[in-house]
Amino acid sequence: MSADATERDVARVVSRVENVGGAAFVSKGVTRTIIGLVGDVTSFHHLNLRTLPGVADVHRISDPYKLVSRQHHAGRSTVWVGQPGQQVPIGPDTFTFLAGPCAVETPEQTLEAAQMAKSAGATILRGGAYKPRTSPYAFQGLGRAGLEILADVRALTGLPVVTEVVDARDVEIVAQHADMLQIGTRNMANFGLLQAVGDAGKPVLLKRGMTATIEEWLMAAEYIAQRGNLEIVLCERGIRTFEPATRNTLDISAIPVVQASSHLPVIVDPSHAAGRKDLVVPLARAAIAVGADGVIVDVHPSPETALCDGPQALLGTELRELAQAVRRLPPVVGRLDAGEVARSAR
Ligand code: PEP
Ligand code: MN
Repeated sequence: MSADATERDVARVVSRVENVGGAAFVSKGVTRTIIGLVGDVTSFHHLNLRTLPGVADVHRISDPYKLVSRQHHAGRSTVWVGQPGQQVPIGPDTFTFLAGPCAVETPEQTLEAAQMAKSAGATILRGGAYKPRTSPYAFQGLGRAGLEILADVRALTGLPVVTEVVDARDVEIVAQHADMLQIGTRNMANFGLLQAVGDAGKPVLLKRGMTATIEEWLMAAEYIAQRGNLEIVLCERGIRTFEPATRNTLDISAIPVVQASSHLPVIVDPSHAAGRKDLVVPLARAAIAVGADGVIVDVHPSPETALCDGPQALLGTELRELAQAVRRLPPVVGRLDAGEVARSAR
């Protein structure tokens, strides 16, 4: 409370808080009074405490999100992706490798990329049928035909599929074809879309908005969780900074920060962070070392003809190096191979 707050001002705050079911603890100092509030933070929200006479400032100590917070959830969660008999874990005990083309272009290209991913050790296939492009003139993805290709390639390879959904009207059809729904960086704060994927009954891969704070990202996850879907995996994919050498700056510290405040698994996308293939392996190694629960990487059988993000797609030497890193490094930081855990769970 401000130094000139009256007894009535203090009593008003206390009664407003008690009226919404909270408790208020008044501590009187020599010049100032501090009131500590305990209870459901969401109900304090509507009180507009800052507007009351005598209130100098309001500081929140607890997290603004609840369902995704560790404050109300002991331990960290594991999300299982795939149809029964095909499920792969993403969580604290394992390291999961997801790979595939940026975009689904043809049945042959998608199958080839999936086979490259699988032989490099990946256990979940990525690939976009709906591409959220910065330019309306760029390749927008095959849409429904792309979903069918992904479903066919899943049947041929046995790899569960994650694919992006960019429009709430497509959520149902994407959920029918894919095992996990991806929300891309450009839609992280599209709250109607978040609610729609929350209702879809499939795990969600929620990428961090390129200009979103960690708190905003977790609030976006809370929108999905609020619909009763806690099968959410977060993905750090780089944020915009002043540095032009990389497409985005991979915020490696976000991984332990998120893990300290949320129980949700968090993986890293070094391909979309860097935008260049020579940085993908070093960044993937960093992700493993910092404690990420997995990495998701672009691969393409002929990056030079790729319709989307060719410069960051791995092939040949880099892919072999990546395969080695994801096989050797996770055990060093106490992680099991997600593929082996998946097989022994069947
Ligand atoms: C993608 O993964 O295909 C993609 C478009 O990524 P982002 O949303 O992180 O840019
Ligand atoms: Mn891409």
